[in-house]
Amino acid sequence: MLPTATIIDIHCHTAGIGAGSSGCFVSSAMRRNVRFNFFLKTFGVSERELLQHGDGLVLERLSKRLGESRQVSAAVVLAMDGVVDAQGQLDQAATEIHIPNEFLGRECKKYPNLLFGASINPNRSDALERLDRAAEEGAVLLKWLPSVQHIDPADARLTPFYRRLRELRLPLLTHTGNEESFTRVDNSLADPLRLRRALDEGVTVIAAHCASNGKNDGQANLERLLSLFGQYPNLHADISALTQANRLGHLTGVLRNAGIHDRLLYGSDMPIINSAITSPWWHAYRIPLPEVRRIAAIKNPWDRDVELKRALGVTEKILGNSARMFVGAGLVPARLAPLQ
Ligand SMILES: [Zn+2]
Repeated sequence: MLPTATIIDIHCHTAGIGAGSSGCFVSSAMRRNVRFNFFLKTFGVSERELLQHGDGLVLERLSKRLGESRQVSAAVVLAMDGVVDAQGQLDQAATEIHIPNEFLGRECKKYPNLLFGASINPNRSDALERLDRAAEEGAVLLKWLPSVQHIDPADARLTPFYRRLRELRLPLLTHTGNEESFTRVDNSLADPLRLRRALDEGVTVIAAHCASNGKNDGQANLERLLSLFGQYPNLHADISALTQANRLGHLTGVLRNAGIHDRLLYGSDMPIINSAITSPWWHAYRIPLPEVRRIAAIKNPWDRDVELKRALGVTEKILGNSARMFVGAGLVPARLAPLQ
């Protein structure tokens, strides 16, 4: 009998070009970029197919492929809000990618293994109403990419937003460390120390990618993140992207800190796990060759990712943390991840 999948992936992306009136938006510069077509390909779709069937096709393909995983039972798919102007309105000209909550919430409802990860720029004039609406629509967390969405998590004006997040018991998954996929980026906004305001307000904060790259004030972002765990039991971090070729050694570096193992959550950063940049072969200097070969031969991208992370030292306990946290908080139904 196949082992029952029990792992919850808390960091999975989707894509959209606005097809089928999805409301998704990609800037023309981004869309002309060859990387964008490559990005669509890693989802198993082409631009032509999207134009024909609508952006919902990406979710359909994600759900199907995830359903074939022996390891991962469900994934939180992430919306992506845009940049907001001084009047608190969407600034389309400054936005490179927008995946609206309305579209994603609706699509995720169709697939029991896809969970809705909302994204709201807190600088929107109606941010609190949007937050309530996202919670009503079944959001299991809120996602930010501060360096791209121009959000300063340390801004005192965000206090009411943090209080509402806490009341709704929605975790905040927010990018930490440098960001390399977008053109207009302010990496100082992804400084882990800027998360203290949310943490002080009692928000459950998940630092995406463990702040494993980049520096602020001359100090490695990872070091800055590590300095917070002792003071804040509400701080967590995800292990997505840490096996990328441009982050070699980052996962083992994070795992060396045994004291934070109970705070680490599994994230895949799909579709990145389906591209050559996360190939097990990059790790051949650390993993025995037959093992690399075995992992590289695994077809399902989630199963390959989980096995690679196991080979690099991620424990069963760590792989179970996301299910314990999200099922435990009542955000995700227990049938998706039977707790062990
Ligand atoms: Zn990501």
